[in-house]
Amino acid sequence: MSDRDGFIWYDGKLVPWRDATTHVLTHSLHYGLAVFEGVRAYNSDLGTAIFRLEEHTTRLFNSAHIYQMKIPFDRETIMQAQREVVRRNALDSCYIRPLVFYGSEKMGVSPRGAQVHVAIAAWAWGAYLGEDALKQGIRVKISSYARQHVNVTMPRAKVASTYANSILANAEALDHGYDEAILLDTDGFVAEGSGENIFIVKDGVLYEPEIASALTGITRSSIHALAADLGIKIVTRRLTRDDLYIADEAFFTGTAAEVTPIREIDQRIIGQGSRGPVTEKLQKAFFDAVHGRNAKYHHWLSKV
Ligand code: PMP
Repeated sequence: MSDRDGFIWYDGKLVPWRDATTHVLTHSLHYGLAVFEGVRAYNSDLGTAIFRLEEHTTRLFNSAHIYQMKIPFDRETIMQAQREVVRRNALDSCYIRPLVFYGSEKMGVSPRGAQVHVAIAAWAWGAYLGEDALKQGIRVKISSYARQHVNVTMPRAKVASTYANSILANAEALDHGYDEAILLDTDGFVAEGSGENIFIVKDGVLYEPEIASALTGITRSSIHALAADLGIKIVTRRLTRDDLYIADEAFFTGTAAEVTPIREIDQRIIGQGSRGPVTEKLQKAFFDAVHGRNAKYHHWLSKV
């Protein structure tokens, strides 16, 4: 990822991609406290546009606030910077990664006294779980690792340290020949994927787990609006792993994963074992919205 042309916004300036480096004694590298976002820009009917830029930027500032990190730029600057990296890298559809981290001024658990840095990179990134996954669906495994308890790492924050837990779950799933993991919370109820929220469909109704220990996904909130438009009822309640086994359909949502159908969980075929009709409708509505084909959601798009 580091050896390529292009520009990265780094502490207020666009720097050549290869020069966007940091010291090995960077505090965040040692103790895992960095907050970040995953954002996408699409080649939409309105031109290249960032999907839900405001919401992602708000979540970034909320993550920093939770961890008492003071971002040395205001919201408007960070939003403008995200537009600028897309423009300067001449990307028409891409993934955008804003990262807020502590520098190398000090060691020890407390980061107090270390400088807060902000980097924003953007690069072309297709379907996270593969183009085929969007049509055929993926095979997932319930992880033997639990999702963080709500009082361990803070689930409203998109914080780097949480992803050590995600990496364990994802690696276990891949080692067993699956495509992705689903983590249960510490009470044994369904939480989320390693980098996605989850929904199931049963008898035409959409169910999603209570968000307690999961990230408040922005794709998930987009699905809420799109489901309402389609007259699909959503029920939010605790879900057990066997609620998933007997679902008619299941799918993941996330900025990277977009709307990815799940066709198998722990060797149980879900529904017909392919993308279900409700999933397909919501997936289409989602892609219409991100590509500017639904005027009702043009306010979700920020032109670069
Ligand atoms: N849960 C986790 C753990 C994630 O990493 C993500 C991706 N950011 C999501 C859920 C989905 O969030 P969003 O739709 O905002 O990308």
